[in-house]
Amino acid sequence: MNTKTQISGQTHSAPIAVIGGGVMGALTTLTASHQGIEVLWFAPPETGRSDGADARNYALSPVTVDLLRRLGVWPSLEQSSCPVTRMEVYSGAARIDLSASDAGTEFLSVMLLHRDLLSGCEQAVKFRPQIQRISHRPDQLTITPEGVTLTAEQRSYSAQLVVGADGARSWVRSQAGILWGQRDYGQQGVVATFRTEYPHGGVAVQWFDEGDVLALLPLADPNLMSMVWSTSRTEPTSEIAINEFAARVADRTAGRFGALTLEGEASSAPLRMMLTDRQSSLRTALVGDAAHTVHPLAGYGLNLGVQDLLSLEEIWKSHRMDPGAAAALTVYEKARHRRVRRVQWSLDLLQRLVSQTHPTFLKIREFGMRVVANTGPLRQFLIKQAISPQ
Ligand SMILES: Cc1cc2nc3c(=O)[nH]c(=O)nc-3n(C[C@H](O)[C@H](O)[C@H](O)COP(=O)(O)OP(=O)(O)OC[C@H]3O[C@@H](n4cnc5c(N)ncnc54)[C@H](O)[C@@H]3O)c2cc1C
Repeated sequence: MNTKTQISGQTHSAPIAVIGGGVMGALTTLTASHQGIEVLWFAPPETGRSDGADARNYALSPVTVDLLRRLGVWPSLEQSSCPVTRMEVYSGAARIDLSASDAGTEFLSVMLLHRDLLSGCEQAVKFRPQIQRISHRPDQLTITPEGVTLTAEQRSYSAQLVVGADGARSWVRSQAGILWGQRDYGQQGVVATFRTEYPHGGVAVQWFDEGDVLALLPLADPNLMSMVWSTSRTEPTSEIAINEFAARVADRTAGRFGALTLEGEASSAPLRMMLTDRQSSLRTALVGDAAHTVHPLAGYGLNLGVQDLLSLEEIWKSHRMDPGAAAALTVYEKARHRRVRRVQWSLDLLQRLVSQTHPTFLKIREFGMRVVANTGPLRQFLIKQAISPQ
């Protein structure tokens, strides 16, 4: 194995090249380096993302937190994170409470701000000599059975495997000729942070209402909550006056946390499920949003990407000589394709169920919620599904 980055003429070589300066790119790079594999990381610094990701807070599953611990990133993040110990779900008059203690776990998820998570990963990268960060987007990718070559800023790079971690509009995916399709939910994901009158106490609350899903999620400050509102309302957020917006959210949340004051600005992104034909092709693997996107109603997106990475980590252990070999990528395809599809279609079905506004559906949903609320094993099953996406 080529364990040392080489400069031969103008070509810099490493076994793996990772494209994408977001969280999945950083985590993939760190994971490879912890396997002792040299990595070229094409990661232009993120400055002011237009999709609102800067203000996004992730509900990280225990599996994702475990990976962050193993990669040595967690100690720098723990202080700015907030464990979610209980979740309340409301639909009309029905309510379900899911608590970590019910399932014998310490927490259901941990809330963390995108920019804190990314900056923690970037700090960790600086201590990994196996990682060479290139602060430019590559402009060319050539894939052959023997390996890949990339160019950026007139420099040439080569690798045995290219990992596309470059988000939903993946350039790597199109260069590799991987087909994709999407279902547009006709909804916006409006993200904002609110200061609450009463402390949140580590409780996350979700309301299913008139086809919308509104979630308030606790942050490290006991009086700050992150809102994700999946709504089919059409007016752009910027046109909603701040006070009117805060009042509307406070009204929807029935004063559960008292008066709400908007902190900073709200941002929104269109919600889509994106499916790919394959998650790998010759010398290429896709991870995270480059391979799949899901509706955010269960906070699965990034956690699903981490599952891609855990598969690659296992595969790299037994394919250190050539992480881009066809045999390695076949195992990856088998490990991920069906599982990802299952999660995507399950969340799609859930979205369809919660977006129904017909009175008969509402009654069925409320009845179903009451059954779950009164059946311990069912609640435990739901918690297990919620905290460990495949
Ligand atoms: C409203 C909303 C709420 C969400 N809430 C949650 C949640 O609670 N929990 C959860 O797990 N997930 C959540 N998600 C999903 C989550 O945001 C995504 O799954 C996650 O951000 C994907 O990370 P990524 O690194 O794969 O992609 P991205 O975050 O899109 O990052 C891609 C990166 O690649 C860079 N890039 C693009 N092209 C190139 C190129 N050619 N060369 C180099 N770099 C390039 C981009 O600049 C960017 O930095 C939510 C999504 C939405 C829309």
